[in-house]
Amino acid sequence: MPYRYINENQIDVELKCSICDEPLQSPVNCRSCGYTYCQGCIEKWMTRQASCPSCRQQGNQFLPVISRVVLNQLNRLLVQCDLCERSNIERGNFNDHMSSTCPKQIVDCTDNCGWKGMRENLEEHVQRCRLKKEFSARMWPVLKKILIFLAIVLAFYLSPRSSK
Ligand SMILES: [Zn+2]
Ligand SMILES: [Zn+2]
Ligand SMILES: [Zn+2]
Ligand SMILES: [Zn+2]
Repeated sequence: MPYRYINENQIDVELKCSICDEPLQSPVNCRSCGYTYCQGCIEKWMTRQASCPSCRQQGNQFLPVISRVVLNQLNRLLVQCDLCERSNIERGNFNDHMSSTCPKQIVDCTDNCGWKGMRENLEEHVQRCRLKKEFSARMWPVLKKILIFLAIVLAFYLSPRSSK
């Protein structure tokens, strides 16, 4: 999923991929010219042409960027969440935001009842869900007794009477 960056035109051009023009994702470096690309972009490029898009050097000469400075800068870029509209999320924390804090993300009931809904409604749902389960756990034995009783009464009335 593409990120929605805040102030995208103010992002340093050094942090952008020269293929997609977006801030780098899993950046790789060309060993001959030093240009940086997203790993995904270069992989797509290499299926058509086995050379660097900028220096035209033949072959796969791309190495993952391991410089903490670059990676940290990329992780600190601010992105916006389309679901909850929060806009001060660091890119490096975005996956965490989606998987554990975004209030508008659709989640499953943690008790696996099949309910799906926004995370902000989960707590309330789980409370109701547990009450319902507790209720039916307590009511079912009582209901079963009543049903058995009714069945016996019915059987009694329907049975051919041994008349005197
Ligand atoms: Zn790219
Ligand atoms: Zn190159
Ligand atoms: Zn969100
Ligand atoms: Zn539930």
